[in-house]
Amino acid sequence: MSELRTRLAEVDDLIASAARRFQRDPAEITRIVVTKFHPPQLISDLAAIGVHDVGENRQQELSHKRVELADLTDMTWHFIGQAQSNKARQIREAADVVHSVDREKIAIALDAAAGETDPILDVLLQVNLTADAGRGGVEPGDIEGLAARIAALPTLRLRGVMAVAPLDEDPAPAFERLAGYSQLLRSVVPDASWISAGMSHDFAEAIAHGATHLRIGSAITGTRPARG
Ligand SMILES: *Cc1c(COP(=O)(O)O)cnc(C)c1O
Repeated sequence: MSELRTRLAEVDDLIASAARRFQRDPAEITRIVVTKFHPPQLISDLAAIGVHDVGENRQQELSHKRVELADLTDMTWHFIGQAQSNKARQIREAADVVHSVDREKIAIALDAAAGETDPILDVLLQVNLTADAGRGGVEPGDIEGLAARIAALPTLRLRGVMAVAPLDEDPAPAFERLAGYSQLLRSVVPDASWISAGMSHDFAEAIAHGATHLRIGSAITGTRPARG
């Protein structure tokens, strides 16, 4: 617990200093702690030291933890993994924000899965920053079309873009492209200003290029257990 607290404080210091360096207001940057593969207890421990945002990348694991930790009322749950449309209901039940909407089919499924009393679901459009069209994320040329279709769905609110930096490229130019895609998205949905980018090894570059939501795992949680 004390190590967790130390690593969290260290990362938050680095976030604050990167924000100062790039003339960003730290208050407009949300630090999401990615807890995938860790037991639910880690999320309780994080809550006890003031964490309000956690991220999970597998629906079953997210659903399980959210049920188990139903007493954590001051936690926002971010789904950052590949979304399957046949799991839309479960995703909607467990997530407050879905970062990984990258095709119309999943957007329609998430909208259709809304119950009568469900709140509006915040979603981000995941963009593929790699040259490999097989990777997750919409191709940049399709951003405006998909954004317009998502914006028309009554129970979703499109908040911005999300991306993972390519493994084989310096993250800075990739995040610079992402900032351009964010502009493009805002030409369709003007208030969709969130940029979800930056992980343990590249969050400073992401902050330099306008990230509003950082998804940081191992730098805070320590080494992840093997995939469960
Ligand atoms: C696991 C994961 C992260 C966090 O990765 P770290 O390198 O541990 O910080 C961020 N985003 C996504 C989509 C992930 O799957």
